[in-house]
Amino acid sequence: MTVVDDGARVFIGGRFRAAEASTPVLEAATGARLGDGAAAGEAEVDAAVAAARAALPGWASTPAADRAAVMGGLADELLARASSTDELCTRENGMPIRLSRGANGFFPAGLLRYYAGLIGQTAAEEIRPAAIGHTIVRREPVGVVGAIVPWNYPQALAAFKLAPALAAGCTVVLKASPETALDALIFAEAALAAGLPAGVLNVLAGGPDTGAHLVSHPGVDKVSFTGSTAVGRLIAQECGRLLRPVTLELGGKSAAVILEDADLDTTVKGLKNASFVNNGQTCHLNSRILAPKSRYGEVVDALAALTAGLKVGDPLDKSTDVGPLVSSRQRDRVLGYIEAGKADGARLVAGGGIPADQPDGWFVSPTLFADVDNSARIAQEEIFGPVLAVIPYETEQQAIDLANASEYGLGGTVWSADAERATDVARAIHTGTVGVNDYQLDIAAPFGGVKASGLGRELGPEGLAAYQNLKSIYRIGPAAE
Ligand code: NAD
Repeated sequence: MTVVDDGARVFIGGRFRAAEASTPVLEAATGARLGDGAAAGEAEVDAAVAAARAALPGWASTPAADRAAVMGGLADELLARASSTDELCTRENGMPIRLSRGANGFFPAGLLRYYAGLIGQTAAEEIRPAAIGHTIVRREPVGVVGAIVPWNYPQALAAFKLAPALAAGCTVVLKASPETALDALIFAEAALAAGLPAGVLNVLAGGPDTGAHLVSHPGVDKVSFTGSTAVGRLIAQECGRLLRPVTLELGGKSAAVILEDADLDTTVKGLKNASFVNNGQTCHLNSRILAPKSRYGEVVDALAALTAGLKVGDPLDKSTDVGPLVSSRQRDRVLGYIEAGKADGARLVAGGGIPADQPDGWFVSPTLFADVDNSARIAQEEIFGPVLAVIPYETEQQAIDLANASEYGLGGTVWSADAERATDVARAIHTGTVGVNDYQLDIAAPFGGVKASGLGRELGPEGLAAYQNLKSIYRIGPAAE
């Protein structure tokens, strides 16, 4: 794995360079040093933005079909590396390898192909008859994109931004998190191998200062950010000051609404994924479980069995359900929330600390609290770990009100034997995405949040439009045939 062994590097203007400063990247399951990632400074950000600006006219004017062909090559190169990429990501952030195979291995290539296909079908210009003459409505690339991503799905979330941006004709500076600084360079290796023109994609890693410098850089035309709501607010402020377009994919505290008629087997099987996926380090997961009082004991027992039965351990083992958290900081944060849950009087039903057989790395036992008040901290704040809160409700309307009584609005699920009834409840939930009897992202449909969960949408045609400016060219006389 060259990205691990070659020392901290950045990728700027089509070339790898030794990074000016570095931070160690640690293996989540053991705490051992995996390699060194870049801690990119201002000069490296400046160079990356300059390279992206220089490459913009050429890439923006490349015919869409040719851009799509290069993106297809990039997808092939990523796929050729998929089985080492997924393993590296698992080592970096603790994601169970079963999930990493899809999310980090195959998904980015699939998304590049999707947007390569879409740009080929989307006319760059459309003619509309006007009151006087006609208008050419033109879609142009927004320009240089500063893309900032978190560590939890490092390859997938970078691809959420890269694929539509490259398809639209934008050039990109990708800033990865320090925790997952190594795998980000795989995009750079693949870009070189696929013949992506120099400067179209530049890759850096670094912390808050690196990100902040990129956000406010005068050479950046658009910011696309995935991360916490707290940092999202800072970025939104800065982009407001600069009047710079920004897409924000932020935190969540989504609710699973279990209706009275739900089949509990299906529900619990589905919640294994919807509530615990990636060790609880997933923005859209259902960390609040709304259970009808009429079946409350039954629901808590079934969830307790699910939580206690999850296999915790080596994330590289295909049979593992829950691996370690990404860092000691994240583990301590999650343990702090578990203490807050106990202090607030919630009933601890399963888990509640560090598993006795996992003294190394950053493990936390899957944890279930029952009898939680929706106003408690563990029901209102994003924990970002394997901790669920069960909240009782009396009526369907009360369940909807509780689901909506949150600062966030990103995901959610509704579980019922009657899919139409569940869909009506889904319609009443104030959120950007919601699943009926399951939760599976659809790359062809918009993904994003309302309220403190974000601004704008990724995925689907809407995700492409986020990287395009519209220009109207008014013309006198009839349009040419
Ligand atoms: P974070 O906000 O701490 O960091 C995210 C990224 O922003 C990192 O690359 C970080 O280095 C950078 N950053 C930090 N401070 C910055 C600043 N002042 N200016 C510019 N960049 C800065 O989040 P995290 O802990 O890495 O990730 C977890 C969070 O991400 C959770 O809140 C989770 O819900 C959210 N998330 C949201 C989605 C979504 O699609 N809505 C997806 C995944 C994760």
